[in-house]
Amino acid sequence: MSSKAWLSLGANLGDPPAQLADAVRRIAAHPQITIIAQSSVLSTEPWGKTDQPDFANMAIGIDTTLKPMELLDVLLGIEVAMGRVREEVWGPRLIDIDIIAYDQFEIRTPRLTLPHPYAHERSFVLVPLGEIAPEVNDWVKATAAKPR
Ligand code: ADP
Ligand code: MG
Repeated sequence: MSSKAWLSLGANLGDPPAQLADAVRRIAAHPQITIIAQSSVLSTEPWGKTDQPDFANMAIGIDTTLKPMELLDVLLGIEVAMGRVREEVWGPRLIDIDIIAYDQFEIRTPRLTLPHPYAHERSFVLVPLGEIAPEVNDWVKATAAKPR
C-alpha cells in the first residue's frame, strides 16, 4: 500500500534553484519514493523574518510506502546532508523541506503536524501546490484552519 504526500521546498542561501533541483534529485533517489508531480519554481519575498534574501519555492507530489514519521526523518536527513544548520526559526536556509499533506492524515505531535499548521496562510506554499494539486490545496486550507 502506498500513500500520496505533498511537499513544499524552499531555499534562500547559495544558489536556491540549484538547491531545489538537488533536493528533488535526492528525494527521487529514495527507493520508497516516486515523484508524481512537480510545480514550477517561484521566487518569493521572505515571510516572518523579512531582512533576508528572497526565496525560491516549489511543491512536489510523491507516492511513497514510507509512513509519515519515516518520511519526515528521510526529508530532515536530506536537509542535513545538504548542509542545513538550524540557527533561527524562519531564518535563511540552504534548503527546507516540509510535508504539507500526507493522504488525509490529521495528526498533531511535537515532531509532526499534518496538514502543515502554517501552509494555509503561506502563498509560497499554496501557489505552487495549487499548480499541481488544487484539490489538495482546498483540503489543506479547510483542514488547517479548523480549530483543533
Ligand atoms: P520551518 O519549516 O517551520 O521553518 P524547520 O524546518 O526548522 O522550521 O522545522 C522545525 C521542525 O518542524 C522539524 O524538526 C519537524 O520536526 C517539525 N515539523 C512539524 N510538522 C512538520 C511538517 N508537517 N513538515 C515538516 N516538519 C514538521
Ligand atoms: Mg521545515
